[in-house]
Amino acid sequence: MMSANFWASGTQCVAKCDHTKPKAPEELCFRKGDILTIVEPCETKGQYKAKHNTTGAEGLLFTAAVREREAIRVDPKLSLMPWFHGKISGPDAVQQLQPPENGLFLIRESIRHPGDYVLCVSFDNEVIHYRVIYKDCQLTIDEATCFYNLIELIEYYMKTQGAICTRLVKPKPKQGTKSAEDELAKAGWLLNMQHLSLGDKIGEGEFGAVLQGEYIGQKVAVKNIRCDVTAQAFLAETAAMTKVQHKNLVRLLGVILHNGLYIVMEFMSKGSLVNFLRTRGRSVIHTGQLLQFSLNVSDGMDYLESKKLVHRDLAARNILISKDNVAKISDFGLAKVDLKCKDLTRIPIKWTAPEALKHNKFSTKSDVWSFGVLLWEIFSYGRAPYPKLSLKEVCEKIEKGYRMEAPEHCPPSICILMNSCWEMDPGKRPSFKKLREKLEKELKAQQEG
Ligand code: AMP
Repeated sequence: MMSANFWASGTQCVAKCDHTKPKAPEELCFRKGDILTIVEPCETKGQYKAKHNTTGAEGLLFTAAVREREAIRVDPKLSLMPWFHGKISGPDAVQQLQPPENGLFLIRESIRHPGDYVLCVSFDNEVIHYRVIYKDCQLTIDEATCFYNLIELIEYYMKTQGAICTRLVKPKPKQGTKSAEDELAKAGWLLNMQHLSLGDKIGEGEFGAVLQGEYIGQKVAVKNIRCDVTAQAFLAETAAMTKVQHKNLVRLLGVILHNGLYIVMEFMSKGSLVNFLRTRGRSVIHTGQLLQFSLNVSDGMDYLESKKLVHRDLAARNILISKDNVAKISDFGLAKVDLKCKDLTRIPIKWTAPEALKHNKFSTKSDVWSFGVLLWEIFSYGRAPYPKLSLKEVCEKIEKGYRMEAPEHCPPSICILMNSCWEMDPGKRPSFKKLREKLEKELKAQQEG
């Protein structure tokens, strides 16, 4: 963990105690558990200017009153649906809901009607079982109010009694699971839906639309994952994102559990690197800028390498550009390429190292291979790699030693660098640290020349 003396601007902190009666008017007021963002250090040691994430107020705080937000452990027991008990029988559900308590509930899978679920609710010393019917890709109890997933259904009946005996009050967690909501809130990653306003669609990802939004005055990008199974899978990956913070990685600001999962990230106003390059081209973007982008990415990857994290889907489409032209890596920890999936269109074959494609051996060195392809994309101003070759042809030719030619006007030193990333033996490929050092030198020489 970073030393309290060096909290960078943007660091998220959790208040350790109440501070509601400030001694000076410039001090920030907060309550224990509130999330605060560091704006900048002050001249007085141990003091920072900070912003309250909920009220938006700015003021001074003492580091002793706060702790840095913690990383979430990637724990398979972390569940978005702790009330989901899977295939248990009706009598077992009744057992689980003892002692009786009005509004205590769980969901089980229906044994009699495979594909359907049962909502079991304790009420007036009884347990009432409601069949949840899966119909036309939606779930319903009363055939009138329909939901996309169980999370939405539970959210609704916790607010509204609707056609059932009582409003749902308290989930009965399945033994061995931990409520993701509780864990995220404790560590300070849970944001409040009330403070989020959603705007225009800015992109389309594999799991749905990416929207622009605002969270207490800050521009953000938001992904909403509504399918509960996908949201659960994403949760583990999001947990990985809580462990990292670097100037060249798109920052996770937090998550909201509502209609599935909302992932709230820093907003990158200039969009993806591939579109940035394609829409501007050689006449607008000079070699120095291309080198700077390459250096930014190698810097972020060097950091991921030091954290022993593998990206698996490094490509110009997954690099985003900030308003001041800094390239940052996105979708790390989120992008997991499922190689068991036989649908070749879902595997980024042209970016994936041969050993990863053939033997599922993903490593930092397979990321280095992808970085070589990314360098090629950058210096060709966003062209699709291996032009005119089919995916099958690429695989066959790579095995036989074929490598892409350098893009037009690509500096020879960059051409050497990308080819070093495409060594067949992963051990012979450079580390990201080496790549970063070489790109730094290259940029310096370019600036001096
Ligand atoms: P993804 O789902 O991550 O593949 O994102 C799809 C598209 O949404 C990207 O190509 C970007 O155009 C846009 N996008 C994703 N994340 C952000 C962000 N943090 N800031 C701005 N645009 C984004």
